Amino acid sequence: MSLEKIKAGIRDVPDFPHPGIMFKDLTTVFKNGNDLQEIASMLYDKYKETGLTKIVGIESRGFITGPILAEKLGVGFVPVRKKGKLPADTIEESYSKEYGVDIIQIHKDALNADDVVLLHDDLLATGGTMKAAYNLVKKFGVKTVYVNCLVELDFLKGRDTLEEANEVYSLIHF
Ligand code: IMP
Repeated sequence: MSLEKIKAGIRDVPDFPHPGIMFKDLTTVFKNGNDLQEIASMLYDKYKETGLTKIVGIESRGFITGPILAEKLGVGFVPVRKKGKLPADTIEESYSKEYGVDIIQIHKDALNADDVVLLHDDLLATGGTMKAAYNLVKKFGVKTVYVNCLVELDFLKGRDTLEEANEVYSLIHF
């Protein structure tokens, strides 16, 4: 029930960041303490038995709910950032965007092969960003990778790019 309420609270912003794009703005959800608690507790229940050791959050909105969940689960948080933002040695992955190529990076010492990882972001659209992050995590030899987004745009079929992941789970679907 409350998921429906949270869904209804997501703001549609037309023509952002480009003309013709209808942007799902989750700041209207994040500013509500009850919604934030609700999201954290649903994700906690979902992942508490999975043996996660790290949450890998994707810049930038994966840095909002990712660390909240990490704290609740008692696991570490690792950032994946756009090229040039992380201070120490990194490995990287490039992926195609609508207007060219983007590069994301993770610290070289952020994970090891024994980690059980949850990749987390606010929204799954085409899946390009998440697939690149998945590829990054796999470079460490990690065997178990769960994927979670708060919102999934089903019609863009982003999850089809993530068939190798152990599970792709989103709280809210459009
Ligand atoms: P994808 O790579 O096409 O799946 O796009 C997902 C990435 O772009 C995520 O990092 C999202 O934060 C961001 N994104 C794309 N569309 C939206 C939107 O409508 N609302 C919020 N974030 C979006």
